[in-house]
Amino acid sequence: MKQIDVLIIGGGPIGIACGIEAKKAGLSYLIIEKGCLVNSLYHYPINMQFFSTSELLELDNIPFISAENKPRRKEALEYYRRVSNLHDLSIHLFETVLGVHKQVAGHFEIETSKSKYTASHVIVATGFYDFPNLLHIPGEDLPKVSHYYNDPHYYANMEVVVVGASNSSVDAALECYRKGAKVTMVVRDNAISSHVKYWVKPDIENRIAEGAIQVYFNSQLTAISPSTVTLEKEGKSITLSNDFVLALTGYRPDFNFLRQLGITTQNDVDLLPTFHTKTMETNIENLYLAGVVCGGLNTHSWFIENSRIHAKLIIQHIIRH
Ligand SMILES: Cc1cc2nc3c(=O)[nH]c(=O)nc-3n(C[C@H](O)[C@H](O)[C@H](O)COP(=O)(O)OP(=O)(O)OC[C@H]3O[C@@H](n4cnc5c(N)ncnc54)[C@H](O)[C@@H]3O)c2cc1C
Repeated sequence: MKQIDVLIIGGGPIGIACGIEAKKAGLSYLIIEKGCLVNSLYHYPINMQFFSTSELLELDNIPFISAENKPRRKEALEYYRRVSNLHDLSIHLFETVLGVHKQVAGHFEIETSKSKYTASHVIVATGFYDFPNLLHIPGEDLPKVSHYYNDPHYYANMEVVVVGASNSSVDAALECYRKGAKVTMVVRDNAISSHVKYWVKPDIENRIAEGAIQVYFNSQLTAISPSTVTLEKEGKSITLSNDFVLALTGYRPDFNFLRQLGITTQNDVDLLPTFHTKTMETNIENLYLAGVVCGGLNTHSWFIENSRIHAKLIIQHIIRH
């Protein structure tokens, strides 16, 4: 089995950035992606608009031209596919990395759903979009409950509860309302999140103020049945009739996968994985983290914008050793 220099797990924007840097440095490399190219972005809501301007999502200074200054999902898919093709990157799609084992000789053996590889360095760029933060309440597994939102048309004329008050929840609430759904938001805090896109926040606040979208602040869902939801607000239990629940309460990295790789965490609060900020190397020599996976439970700390740099840091560290 031929040993490659760098095996990159994850074909998201940051995995692609790592592939580009490895190729430019003359290293042999392979990106392994369990779904389609930029799989997380592909599964974002169909009308999703980034909060970043397009130039901040660019890789390798390749211009990202978008119709508006903040691009949409469709344009991002187009862009990252074109970038990947331009560099003729070596990527295996629809292949899942199942395990990585460090051998006594120092190299890594990587087992996937299709094959086995050996590599002297491994970069984990697996993001956080595969694992939703669950509510852990009765009825959460009903088919009417989803932790991902896609297209508002599906919810037209139906009673929809949206859990959460961040960008994803607010976008879903507004879009569903505009397609004729009766939308109720259930929000743990006492206001819409301050992280909500500045050009969207007045829209949701005005819809709430005029009663077009109903909201329960300081509230938590406690149970879901096929035709109702029950929530608790300041000690009072309230039951509403309901057709669909969009539980958009955020996502988390695959901590089991990181643990299985031997990556430790810096603390028990936000489960921040251990890595050197200047090199991105983890507690295991030659095993690196890149992209939003680095934030642990703090998924707001890294974006494409500020984690593109990880690719350069890692590859520079590899070639200096
Ligand atoms: C709705 C939403 C909007 C966002 N908007 C912005 C924005 O405007 N600006 C910004 O900078 N950031 C934004 N972000 C954050 C950031 O863009 C994304 O999280 C981005 O996808 C991070 O890139 P990544 O390459 O680190 O991870 P990802 O894009 O998540 O890529 C990880 C890849 O790894 C693959 N993978 C996982 N496990 C395995 C495995 N075992 N084997 C093989 N492959 C695996 C996944 O399928 C995935 O394709 C947004 C995030 C969300 C959820």
